[in-house]
Amino acid sequence: MEMEELTPHIQELQRVLGDKIDEEQLASELNKYLNEYHVNIDAAKRGIIRKYGGNDTATFVTGNALVKKISELTGTEQNVDITAKVVFVDNKEITVKGLPKQIISGILGDETGTASFTVWEPGALVLAKGSVYHFRNCYCKTWNDKVQVNLGNRGRVEPADGVKMELPERQISAASSEVKIGKIKEGMGNVTVTGKIVSVEAKEITARGEQKTVYSGIIADDTGKIQFSAWSDFGLKEGESVCISNAYIRGWKGIPQLNMGDRCEISRVDEVTNVVDTSANQKTVDEITRIGGGLDITLEGLVVDVRQGSGIIRRCPQCNRSMLNGACTTHGAVEGVMDLRLKVVLDDGTGAISAIINKNDTEKLTGVTLQAARGLAAVQGEGVVGREMTSKILMKRIRVVGNVMSDDYGPSIIVKSAESVGVNIEAEANKLLDEVEAAI
Ligand SMILES: [Zn+2]
Repeated sequence: MEMEELTPHIQELQRVLGDKIDEEQLASELNKYLNEYHVNIDAAKRGIIRKYGGNDTATFVTGNALVKKISELTGTEQNVDITAKVVFVDNKEITVKGLPKQIISGILGDETGTASFTVWEPGALVLAKGSVYHFRNCYCKTWNDKVQVNLGNRGRVEPADGVKMELPERQISAASSEVKIGKIKEGMGNVTVTGKIVSVEAKEITARGEQKTVYSGIIADDTGKIQFSAWSDFGLKEGESVCISNAYIRGWKGIPQLNMGDRCEISRVDEVTNVVDTSANQKTVDEITRIGGGLDITLEGLVVDVRQGSGIIRRCPQCNRSMLNGACTTHGAVEGVMDLRLKVVLDDGTGAISAIINKNDTEKLTGVTLQAARGLAAVQGEGVVGREMTSKILMKRIRVVGNVMSDDYGPSIIVKSAESVGVNIEAEANKLLDEVEAAI
């Protein structure tokens, strides 16, 4: 990319980063991401913003705000004005990096539809249910194919006095619809699926003081796999093919689960032969963001950031959770057990995701073992360990497999296994060539 082509991108970065970095430095950073790390321009901009401590990349703004109706929102808007009625509003406290934070969330509606919204920096803002407001400088994202309206630092809310708005009645369908497993999403309601039982087990659990058996496992078809659970014994066996009707979908942190309740019916069907390879389930970050979560997902991307909480950490000896300032949130002050961990941001060109990597894979990826880390920490302090690991992993391409979960801050993957990937120059070059040819 030529220098003059970079200018608008540099200007855009300057607007986001302010005086945190000067223009010359920005140009050289951008050049490094594009020409040394070989990432695309969007990934480069996100990486630089993260590195220099800019806010959420969604605050990227180009030009003036658009004015849209809710049904016109695509979920990609970076700066949009919406006039809408507050259908539901909830003032909530959430936890960000261990600290409480107030937000306002709820549902907005206009004549064309409804969307959920979040005001991330409400200050003294009070929203009244049933009132109409102008929501200015919003940015949108999608979640389970539904648009979410967000107001960040730049967002403003103004009362729309005198604006009347009639909302259409919502339609709710209760019929059980037949779906492919790969298309299942949280909040889907009543579904019918046909697939093969990959695994099943019975577990004893205590629910409200009562001993119960829960039957759970994995079912797969040619499009995906999903965890199921049932309170009654349907006699499911590994390897058999079944049609499950009237099951319902529950989500846990963005991972959809198939629940077989009282109304559920099972019928044995002809063998479902075409089943996804349940060991490999490669997705892009963009795909994951749309789905919200999933099991055993493979992702490949560039490590564009190493987050705080990487390096030597201490875990509670009773519950194994990581401790903060010498204390476990459940068990208080305890003598922590030393462990290694990486919290990184992976960018695959379609988007970014947080990845939490355990000790064994951290050792494998960085070459820094827990023993070496202990030694290094004893001599030079624990901060040095984090910096040493960062220098080994930053801007390296890695492939990870794990479970993806989502919260208000986007998706993260709890890594079960990780490996570094050598950049295949030839393949990259061919890919580029194909793209160039396709464009002609
Ligand atoms: Zn604990």
